Amino acid sequence: MRFAFVLAIVVVMFAVDVSADRLVRLYQLDRGSVTRLIEDGYDVANVDIRRGFVDIVLPDDKVGNAALMTPRYEVLPREWSELLSENAKNAGYYYSPEENWKFWCTLAAEHDNLVDTPASIGKSYKDRDIYAIKMTSSSTGYKPTIFFTALIHAREPGSNVVLIDFANWLTDNYDGGDTRAAYILDNATLYFIPIANPDGYYHNMPGGGMHRKNMNFSDGDGVDLNRNWGYKWGYDDTGSSSDPDKETYRGDSAFSEPETQVQRDFTIDKKPVAALNYHTYGSKLLYPWGYDKILTPDSTLFKDWAAQMTAGNKYEYGTPWQVLYKVNGDQNDWCYSGQDVSKIYSMAPEVGDKGFWGSQKDSSEIERICGECRPMNIMLCMLVLKQVGIGEHGECIEPALAVSSVYPNPVNSSVVFTVTVPAGGVTDLTVYDTSGRMVHETEMNNPTGGEYDIRWMIPRELPAGVYSVVVTDGFGHRATSRFTVIR
Ligand SMILES: [Zn+2]
Repeated sequence: MRFAFVLAIVVVMFAVDVSADRLVRLYQLDRGSVTRLIEDGYDVANVDIRRGFVDIVLPDDKVGNAALMTPRYEVLPREWSELLSENAKNAGYYYSPEENWKFWCTLAAEHDNLVDTPASIGKSYKDRDIYAIKMTSSSTGYKPTIFFTALIHAREPGSNVVLIDFANWLTDNYDGGDTRAAYILDNATLYFIPIANPDGYYHNMPGGGMHRKNMNFSDGDGVDLNRNWGYKWGYDDTGSSSDPDKETYRGDSAFSEPETQVQRDFTIDKKPVAALNYHTYGSKLLYPWGYDKILTPDSTLFKDWAAQMTAGNKYEYGTPWQVLYKVNGDQNDWCYSGQDVSKIYSMAPEVGDKGFWGSQKDSSEIERICGECRPMNIMLCMLVLKQVGIGEHGECIEPALAVSSVYPNPVNSSVVFTVTVPAGGVTDLTVYDTSGRMVHETEMNNPTGGEYDIRWMIPRELPAGVYSVVVTDGFGHRATSRFTVIR
């Protein structure tokens, strides 16, 4: 009896051991073979057409099968797909669910003027809270909303650290430092959903777990939450599967899963203008459409935004079928579709992490991926704030409100503010000194919109110093610039 018990434990341990997954990099595959791999239901982790390889997940004892697929392959380091024992505490340098909770609560406590305490937006399949964090300053007026989400796929912790880094950057720089932080929080409302699939992420703890889907095991071993969204759900079987045992199983029906329902309802409620839904890995930035090989009417805008957002990190950008493979039922397509909420400029970065857990033992690697993504987050906000105009949210109406130039600067006697304004309504221009005292105010009607020069003869008695010029329009937008008066 006792012997049998010990044997059972040994067998269980052995079973766990042999079922470990490895990432295997296949070289020299043509596009046709890549499509076949996907259609055959392989767990494709990354496709890099530029550098000519595909990474797939294979059980440890099946990595040899790669030889049947291509003459050249490489088994990637163990730490890319599992947690090394020395990092077993707290998922190495990634953030466990508990560490996440602590981080966001602390940030909210230390910056209660900018960060709300995490709030539950609904429950997962296993009744865990999915929470969101709101970040904005107390400034009022119309503020477009932008979403940042991570970990809809449970084995992608690199997506989560990028959000933590960005939130830290915003609070660190709000009072000085990088002025873009104040610009963003004064003019936009950000929501973070750091763990969109909490059940799967808990399941993968203490880290190194390779479970991707949610924990609804009623059909198989979970539903791929990023194939469960309700636009063109189940359009075909490329990149999404009706087989519950596959990693891209899309579920019984569109929005069958509590996690996607919660995010859908929260999105409808908050009406973001744009979103970055983070994944790992592969150094890419994806935008709609994913379900078929067609471009959106906004493809020029997406391309233009993506080019600016990836100027620093050189991520490859395009639709999923341009840079990876076709997918249907994904979050981006639903967000952009305008089906249940006005269309959202929704994009999905694939962080350039090493495999799924490859930065676990090296904080400099975590810093590297965060440093790659931070400018992308900042740029998205700046693009939204410049381009989102009046009226229906999500409509890009140019020109939006801006102080395009202050000339000359520094100035002695007469200054010209060039202001770009939206059509209609009244624009107010106000000048403040550094103590916030208003020293000048003027207003103008601008029925057609466009660029206007507003000249101001600076009173002789006004002391030398730094001044802010603030323009507001009748739609609640606000834009500012600074200039120096010399004597
Ligand atoms: Zn993913």
